Order: sequence, then C-alpha cells, then structure tokens
Amino acid sequence: MKEQKLKRKASLERAEVLRKSIDDYLKIRDSIPKGLELEDEYKKNKKHILKVLKANEEDWNDYKWQLKNRVSDIETLNKLIDLSNEEKSSIEKVGKKYRWAISPYYISLMHKNDKYDPIRMLSIPSIIEIVDEVGDNDPMGEEYTNPAGSITRRYPDRLIINVTNECAMYCRHCQRRRNIGQVDNHTNTELINESINYIKNNPEIRDVLITGGDPLTLSDDRLEWILKSLKEIPHVEYIRIGSRTLVTMPQRITDSLVDMLKKYHPIYINSHFNHPKEITTESKEACEKLTNAGIPLGNQAVLLNGINNDKYIMRSLNHELLKIRVKPYYIFHAKHVKGTTHFNTSVDDGIEIMEYLRGYTSGMAIPTYIINAPKGQGKTPILPEYLISRGKDYIMIRTWEGKVLKYENHPTIDIKKVY
Ligand code: SF4
Repeated sequence: MKEQKLKRKASLERAEVLRKSIDDYLKIRDSIPKGLELEDEYKKNKKHILKVLKANEEDWNDYKWQLKNRVSDIETLNKLIDLSNEEKSSIEKVGKKYRWAISPYYISLMHKNDKYDPIRMLSIPSIIEIVDEVGDNDPMGEEYTNPAGSITRRYPDRLIINVTNECAMYCRHCQRRRNIGQVDNHTNTELINESINYIKNNPEIRDVLITGGDPLTLSDDRLEWILKSLKEIPHVEYIRIGSRTLVTMPQRITDSLVDMLKKYHPIYINSHFNHPKEITTESKEACEKLTNAGIPLGNQAVLLNGINNDKYIMRSLNHELLKIRVKPYYIFHAKHVKGTTHFNTSVDDGIEIMEYLRGYTSGMAIPTYIINAPKGQGKTPILPEYLISRGKDYIMIRTWEGKVLKYENHPTIDIKKVY
C-alpha cells in the first residue's frame, strides 16, 4: 500500500513536470489565428465578395466559377480588401514580371488591411519579388531530370508527371514559378502519352505522383483518363496526387470527383497547408469527403519566413491538420527560387521547430523536415541530434527533454541460430 502511494506521488509529480514543459505553448496557443475559429469573419468576407462579383452561393460552391473568377486585377482586389497605394504600386510592378491570380475563396480568408496577414503574404505580390534578384529559376534542376514527356525522375522507383501549369492561386513562394508563365496550359495529350509509355517501359516504377501546377484544375474526365492509363500498368502499385486546391479552392472536391477517384485506389493526396488560418470549415468538409472515400491525406508545408517559421505556429498547424484528418508529412525547407528568397529561413529555424515538436506533441503531429538537395539530388531529412556518440556496445542518446543517457547496443544475432 505504501509502495503504491509512493508510485502515485511520483506519477503526479512527473505529470506536473510534463504539463509545465508546454506552459509556454498553452499560453500562446489561443492567440494564434486559426481558420476554424474565424468562421464568422470569413463568412462576412464571402458575403462582401459575392456582392462585389455579383454572384450567389451556388456560384461560390462551383469550382469552375471560382477558377474563372480568380482575381488578377488591382481594381477588383481593391474592392474586396483594402490596399494601400504602396501595395497597389507593388502589385502593378511585380505583375509585369510574375503572374498573380487569387481565387475568391482564398481572398475570403484575408485580413482586410493587415499586410503581414499570412494569407495576404502567401498570395499578394510584394515589391521584394523583383527587388531581390538573387536565387535560381530552377534550383531543383528539373530540366535535367526529365527523361521523357512531362516526367521528372529523381529517385529509383518513383517519379512525377506534370499535367498542367494551372493553379487556383499562384503562391508567392512557388518553387515552380518559372512554369507558371502568363497563361494556363494543360500538358498536351502527346506529352502525357509519352510519359505513360515511359512508365510502361520501366517496370521498377511503382509509385507515380501526378502534379503540376495543380492537377485538380483538370476536368474529371481528363484526370480520369490519366488515372485509368496508369492503373492499367501492372507495376504501378499506387498513385499520388499533389494538390493545393484543398487550401485555395476546396469547392473542387465535388462528389463526382470523389466517386471517380475512388475507382482507382490506392490513391493518396498530399496537400499544402502552410498556416492554421488556411484550415477552415470548407477545407475541413473537402478533406472529410476524401478521407471518407478511403483516400489518405498528407500535408507538405513549406517553411516560410514571416508565415510559419515559428515553433508555436508550426505546432498549431500540425494540430489543426490532424483535426481535419490530414497527417503532417513534410516540412520543406524553402528553396532558393528567384523572386521568392525573402521567404527563405535559416535551417536553424527548422531545427528549432523540430526540437519543439518531438516529445512535446504526439508523433502523429510531427512531419519530417526536409532539405531538397540542389540540382535534384533528392530529399535530405534534417533532425536535431539525438544520437550523441557510439561506443563498442552502447550508444549515447539525448532524450527530447535534453537528458543524455547511455543505451546498450549489441550486434544483431542470427535469428536462425537461436529460434
Ligand atoms: S499551388 Fe503549388 S504549383 Fe501552384 S502556385 Fe502554389 S505552390 Fe506553385
């Protein structure tokens, strides 16, 4: 009995230490803006947008209307949110070099006049894009990893097919902005056929990622033709789709799209949420439709200066994602792309974020932090140091709380000799 009491006392003391270790986060958590808590504000913005664009609820829920009505002129944008003269002049100058267009839905998530609002920073051109001329147009060397059609191949058993350059919104940090150009351009049938034939002729390819641009800007029929052609290749084990429409135009996830996609299982979709403000009731409903149809969802965030290079915002983002059934998958270190380098952060920011995730929150909420090695040399995971040193029959490890411990480590025995 006495022993039991001592154990309970020790457990309670430990629980208190654990609770205190996240006190800093608990204090700040509620002040982080989250889309699911901003529903009233977003609804108000939507009402205003519909009035200005002379549209109705039915239009809003139609992704074709959203795509057709992407805002790409200063006059209309200024009617929807407040723009300073400085912002208007920046947009005009940047627009001559880099395309911009924003779906009415994504505009409804914007703060009316705060130029540091993450939604505005992610979508509205800033003068720094043309002032800062450093960086590379193609840091991944994608043009040197294109063996056929519209394929990018950087790994032994998987590859990418680029099917369009069109997106519901042109993100200011986009690593493929060189492909965005000034007009929407779906990859032609000849190039897609060449890509499919390449996959047919390379039996080691077991995993195909359909990307762009945003593949969900394609019609259901066009997308189905690509999925069907891939599904007919016996060595393609599963198909992945990379899309940001869950964030920028969730109306795209229609019942007919979902019914079509589920014919081609196993299908996985990776999204690209960067800030908790992007997780809204509408994006939640779209995610639910997909997960209910058996399509697992992952998230690939990009670590972006002024948006999410903050240990508390990133923790909140990952928690919000899990609430809408999206598994945090990667945090990408932003690449050195011309016109976007103001979003670049130090690798130290990423390591600090990872340090404050591991142990402080569940493993489910911890993505892998990745640096894409230059010129298509592949994803390189970056971790804080947990393995400190190695001895003959031990290793020294550092726990998430920073305790350094000795851990026994013996050679693996031959199981067949003892079993
Ligand atoms: S949705 Fe993706 S491809 Fe399109 S602009 Fe944004 S980051 Fe680039």
